[in-house]
Amino acid sequence: MIRERYLSLLFDIPVKQAFTYRDLPAGEGAVGKRAAADLGRRQAVGFVISVSGEAPAGIESSRIKTVRRIVDKDPVFGEDDLALAEWMASYYFCSTGEALAAMLPSGRRASAFASFGADDMEGEGVAPAALELSAEQEAALSAITSSQAGGPPFYLYGITGSGKTEVFLRAAEFMLARGKSVIYLVPEIALSRQTAEAIGKRFGGRAATLHSKLTSSQRLAEWVRIRSGDAPIVVGPRSAVFAPVRNLGLVIIDEEHDGSYKSGSAPRYHGRQVAMKRCATSGAALVMGSATPSAEAWKLMEDGKIRRLRLSARLSGGSIPEIKALSLAQSPGCLSRELKEAIRETANMGRQTILFLNRRGFAYFYHCGNCGFELTCKHCSVSLTWHKAKSRALCHYCGYETAPPRACPSCGSLEAGFRGFGTEMIEEEVRRAFPDLRIRRVDADTAAKKGGGLEESLAMFRSGAVDLLLGTQMVAKGLNFPGVRLVGVVLADTGLHLPDFRAAERTFSLLVQVAGRAGRYFPDGKVLVQTLRPNDPVIVRACALDVEGFFAAELEQRRELGFPPYSRLIRFTLRSRDPGKAAAAAHRLFEFCRRFLPPDAGILGPAECPVSLIAGNYRMQLLLRGGNMASLHAAAGKALAACEQGRDPAVYTEVDVDPVSML
Ligand code: ADP
Ligand code: ZN
Ligand code: ZN
Repeated sequence: MIRERYLSLLFDIPVKQAFTYRDLPAGEGAVGKRAAADLGRRQAVGFVISVSGEAPAGIESSRIKTVRRIVDKDPVFGEDDLALAEWMASYYFCSTGEALAAMLPSGRRASAFASFGADDMEGEGVAPAALELSAEQEAALSAITSSQAGGPPFYLYGITGSGKTEVFLRAAEFMLARGKSVIYLVPEIALSRQTAEAIGKRFGGRAATLHSKLTSSQRLAEWVRIRSGDAPIVVGPRSAVFAPVRNLGLVIIDEEHDGSYKSGSAPRYHGRQVAMKRCATSGAALVMGSATPSAEAWKLMEDGKIRRLRLSARLSGGSIPEIKALSLAQSPGCLSRELKEAIRETANMGRQTILFLNRRGFAYFYHCGNCGFELTCKHCSVSLTWHKAKSRALCHYCGYETAPPRACPSCGSLEAGFRGFGTEMIEEEVRRAFPDLRIRRVDADTAAKKGGGLEESLAMFRSGAVDLLLGTQMVAKGLNFPGVRLVGVVLADTGLHLPDFRAAERTFSLLVQVAGRAGRYFPDGKVLVQTLRPNDPVIVRACALDVEGFFAAELEQRRELGFPPYSRLIRFTLRSRDPGKAAAAAHRLFEFCRRFLPPDAGILGPAECPVSLIAGNYRMQLLLRGGNMASLHAAAGKALAACEQGRDPAVYTEVDVDPVSML
């Protein structure tokens, strides 16, 4: 007689409980595999977390359904992964099933093996292994390689071109040579793919590269290769922190300050937090790096809880560029005379210019001079942006679009129109001023075009077929173009006054990163920063590349206001199609929080979110703030549990532990 086997499955749903199914007669089910099964009225893929010969007590055996299919031939997760998922579930207030789903690549059974690391991709920035390290690099490397398990993390702090990547790679080589594995995290931007592939190339077939262009089946195939131990070095964005490497020796977080390390959907985990947890469990070393650390990391360095390893010189042959702030206040258009002259001068030298503006579209908001009417999205409380080429007004949150009005829709006045400017408008002005220059614009609009607009533009710029590249963040980060002489920031203030306590930090960091693009390889780099507030301390310090000065002032302010890193936050967002229900649920949660909160903690709100309506959902927020995460976390857990009873099903509650964006 065949003995029955029962599988315990977790699903990617916000339910903590596991469900029991009967295994297939062939007994394929095993811990770590995925299984398709009926869940209510639908079929879903669950994760097998235990197998038992006994039917669970309390359920009549005839009522237990049989799984439909075992998805995987070999397990895709193990004990360690399950333990990490359980930790994530408790820290980020999600179910273990949701955590596993975030950790594991989806996709069908992995069969074909794909190797991406060994591809002959064109890569730049990674030097051949024969380079002789500078004294600072040597010191940094030996600090890392001689570190003891359980010691503090390291931080390579130095401007672009100071040789951080080279130290990361040597540390990785050191670990591999000792039979240990390495996870190398890079930000989630199109350009990281270049870096990732260049790193993969350096390590050949031993590297697995988990970039965003992989299909889910390719991703799963890489996963299997990593689990098997064939690929001891893994390069990829945020989710690569879950890579199932054996014998983890080192986690590298490049551009540690980057916002993409924080997940924007549940579970809202931070790659750095998960990396710290994994390193603590496995005794692996953690090494981060950036020219502009996050305020959290900076504070930990000041407190000696992260060891700062400074790289102070540019090794790439270039030097620190001249950075100058230009007031835009008196300028009629969006390009000042000085910036125009510099573009001309650069072109005459046969060199290239990057113009940066963190705002796409043609104009920013529609305003009526007569009655004050502003054109906002029907579903979101944000201004619509005029996109001239499409001749539409677009919502950048939900995609809603409408024809731009000819006259004010409210009072009929003709004194109404779009103000402010975006990349599309700058493009028009630049083309008018420099009809002889070859100009390309890259932003989310052009990148979305078929035929890989972004990669084509970047390749053209790199080869010298384009004189001036104009774009959003996409041009700011991770780009290294040897021919660039001039970087122009069209308007530095765009993000400075957003209702988010990190607005200054983000603006500063972005400006310093952009400035780092100039003069990487030549000593005559020039950065011109146009601003409406040339005396704003954030702008002044960014232009001086004064990271220490910026953080001294910024941390002082955070301390006074009680914001991170001087406190910890847990944010609840309550959203509903019905504004009354969202508000009622927020007040209810507020009452429970108040009951459980420790005396040293406080609640901000309930209040409308800075963007109070997105895609037809009204959003209210509640912010818990305290000095101690453990007690804050416990209180949040109790409040959420208490709220469960009698919860309004028309309201969805999002929990964000250590939120990064407050909008
Ligand atoms: P970062 O990661 O800090 O931006 P990289 O490691 O990419 O810096 O180094 C920048 C440039 O300097 C690269 O072209 C690299 O080849 C070169 N480089 C790095 N280390 C050295 C060194 N020790 N000697 C000479 N050149 C170096
Ligand atoms: Zn009007
Ligand atoms: Zn909208």
